[in-house]
Amino acid sequence: MHSPLALQLRKDALVANYRGLARHAGTTTGAAVKADAYGLGAIEVTRALLHEGCRDFFVSTWNEAAELNFLPAGTLSVLHGFARMDEPRAGVRPVLVTPIQIAAWKQSSFSCEPCDVMIDTGMNRLGLDPSDLACFDGLTIHTLHSHLACADEDHRLNAIQLDRFRSLKNAISAERYSLANSAAIFLGSDYAFDLVRPGLALYGGIPRREARGFIAQVCTPRAQVIQLRRVSAGETVGYNATFTAPEDLIVAVINIGYADGYRRAFSSIGQAFFDELTLPVIGRVSMDLVTLDASAAPALKEGDWVDLDFDLERVSAQTGISQYEFLTGLGQRFERFWI
Ligand SMILES: *Cc1c(COP(=O)(O)O)cnc(C)c1O
Repeated sequence: MHSPLALQLRKDALVANYRGLARHAGTTTGAAVKADAYGLGAIEVTRALLHEGCRDFFVSTWNEAAELNFLPAGTLSVLHGFARMDEPRAGVRPVLVTPIQIAAWKQSSFSCEPCDVMIDTGMNRLGLDPSDLACFDGLTIHTLHSHLACADEDHRLNAIQLDRFRSLKNAISAERYSLANSAAIFLGSDYAFDLVRPGLALYGGIPRREARGFIAQVCTPRAQVIQLRRVSAGETVGYNATFTAPEDLIVAVINIGYADGYRRAFSSIGQAFFDELTLPVIGRVSMDLVTLDASAAPALKEGDWVDLDFDLERVSAQTGISQYEFLTGLGQRFERFWI
């Protein structure tokens, strides 16, 4: 069925971002495709990057892994590890995160298979404590991971975590070592080790200013105009009458709202584009509707499509909402189409 809102996804941009990140990292480059590849569509993203030579994919849960059953053995890891209730799939590695998970893995029928391990080096979120080292005996560790808490900032914790990870590398034997997410790729080659695990930057996010110019926008929400109306000077537009027309305006009402992840924070802040023309969002963003000042685009008609501004770095700066939330918040009503 026809959908009045669409997410335009650029495969060339995704692939260029992957290549650019791999070149910059100078080491094996994987892809975090958890959360449906940050809302873009895990199957399509994974297929495109697999074709591009990527052989290391990361999801959070075994449910997410099940969706990617076309991946060759040894190319997928599950970041939340393995608990007794989980049903692992042969050829998919858990990233074990607790001593109890390690014990469960050792008792499972997969115990001889390689696994990954996540060690916490100072974030104090998910991962084994470096003092849990003893329980690694008997594991075949494929990749030893850690994760940085502040890679998107210049924070003293980055160097501290790097130091701790280097010590662990000497103490724990694994085939590969991996520390860097998107932002850490731009912290310098010290952080690259044997594998980097970008997510955000693949999908057009700018994790640090050093990434500007490197990363192309992948994803643009588009919506159809449902109605055009004239609003006279002094009239107000939308819920709670937060916008007053300073002069006579043409207002376009479009088929998108905060239920689609077009956040309410865009009220009177966001913008849309039609034929190179900029149409500012005026008034409140509603659940399913947004109102634009279309006075600059007299050619705009009912049924036309407009592009919403989704330059992640800019909209994040404008609204204070993280680039990650913008991507993962994109709703289910979009027709996702790859060009
Ligand atoms: C999500 C995730 C990544 C990717 O992070 P980005 O900041 O999106 O590049 C890398 N490593 C781990 C452990 C993750 O959970």
